[in-house]
Amino acid sequence: MDLSIIGSGYVGLVTGACFADVGHNVICVDNDPRKVESLQAGKVPIYEPGLEEIIHRNVSAQRLRFTGSIKEGVDGGQVVFIAVPTPQDADGSVDLSFIEKVAREIAGVLSDYRVIVDKSTVPVKTGEKVAESIKRYNKHGAEFDVVSNPEFLREGCAVADLMKPDRIVIGAQSERAIDVMKKVYEPFMAPILVTDINSAELIKHAANSFLALKISYINAVSAICEASGADIEKVADGIGMDRRIGRNFLNAGIGYGGSCFPKDIAAFITISEQLGVPFDLLKEVQRINARQKDRFLKTVRDALWVLRDKKIAVWGLTFKPDTDDIRSSVAIDLVADMLREGAKVSAYDPKGMEKARVLKSLEGARLTNSAMEALEDAEALIIATEWAEFGNADLAAVKAKMHTPMIFDGRNLFDPETMRKLGFHYTSIGRPQAK
Ligand code: NAD
Repeated sequence: MDLSIIGSGYVGLVTGACFADVGHNVICVDNDPRKVESLQAGKVPIYEPGLEEIIHRNVSAQRLRFTGSIKEGVDGGQVVFIAVPTPQDADGSVDLSFIEKVAREIAGVLSDYRVIVDKSTVPVKTGEKVAESIKRYNKHGAEFDVVSNPEFLREGCAVADLMKPDRIVIGAQSERAIDVMKKVYEPFMAPILVTDINSAELIKHAANSFLALKISYINAVSAICEASGADIEKVADGIGMDRRIGRNFLNAGIGYGGSCFPKDIAAFITISEQLGVPFDLLKEVQRINARQKDRFLKTVRDALWVLRDKKIAVWGLTFKPDTDDIRSSVAIDLVADMLREGAKVSAYDPKGMEKARVLKSLEGARLTNSAMEALEDAEALIIATEWAEFGNADLAAVKAKMHTPMIFDGRNLFDPETMRKLGFHYTSIGRPQAK
């Protein structure tokens, strides 16, 4: 099929590449000329494992191309996916101006029947607004259907998630659009759930809120473990072995971040309030998440007495491993907090350095070229992102490099007993501290 994607970011680009890889002809559109130029020149502007190879393969096979022209996208795709940002407004609600703009632009060039699919994460009832908007600006009176098709991929394993999704949600109201969408997804051989548009939109916010809730739940339990001497890893195993609960998303740490959870939870809170049915449980999820980072920082402060002038190494800046995405990363917030307190921070991340270098909040931090370089003379090491590279570090070399062997592990990468035997002062989340 001929498909087009408006918005070639983490979602749009991976979706476009995977659609091409299963045999569709795909046009990826973006209004950032630098991004389009770079993609046309064969350079992939984001890091996502396996993505570059898929893009090159499909560009060579002429199934994938990039353009800045929305007209080219709409003319060339029977199905037009929208994957533009839906950022958080100051009051927590969703800024839908990107979606509105794209809807208007699509309408302006629509000349034949198209299925217009919203893949961005949007509040329930946005589909109605998109349809109204397209109708209003539809110069040629062309036929169209609006579909909601929320995306569930996780950065860091987006290609695998796209290729083997747990489910595909199609929210539509016309049989014609449902048939087209089923054809788009046929090659993926995944379970398809067809719903009305409102339900599809709600599924995405409800799913992300539930996952964030699971993280905050285990983080709240981790505080109880610390206070009581229990071990969060064992507790999480014990809970997670119950098939009704499952072990995924029960990893205690310094809290969730990234471009989705914080904004989607805030959005769901606002949506529920606007509908007159406040979802206050989610406010507690937010509070626990913020507290988890602050608790961690307090542990560091308690151990080092004062942070001013202390040389602190930080491993990890991205919001999770295997991505270069640093948007709303707790690691970045941690560094910014410590800089404000006068600490001398050296930080390293395997893929996030390019994006971190231009961050205002990191001004004053030394961004190093390797994990080992960050450790030079450090009085403490903070592990903020669970990259495999950090878990596999040569601990004897780590100890030799540091001024004092203190590790604060915000992601529970190491075994406390092993660390004690190696001579580290090792503190992690929700686990008894080795004496
Ligand atoms: P992103 O910022 O990485 O990409 C968005 C792209 O849209 C950018 O390249 C931008 O230049 C482009 N764009 C903006 N306005 C445009 C316009 N008018 N015309 C053409 N292109 C335009 O964002 P993302 O992370 O891909 O997220 C997109 C949507 O998907 C959001 O609603 C997000 O909540 C949702 N989502 C994200 C993820 C994720 O893990 N990143 C997962 C599921 C859903």
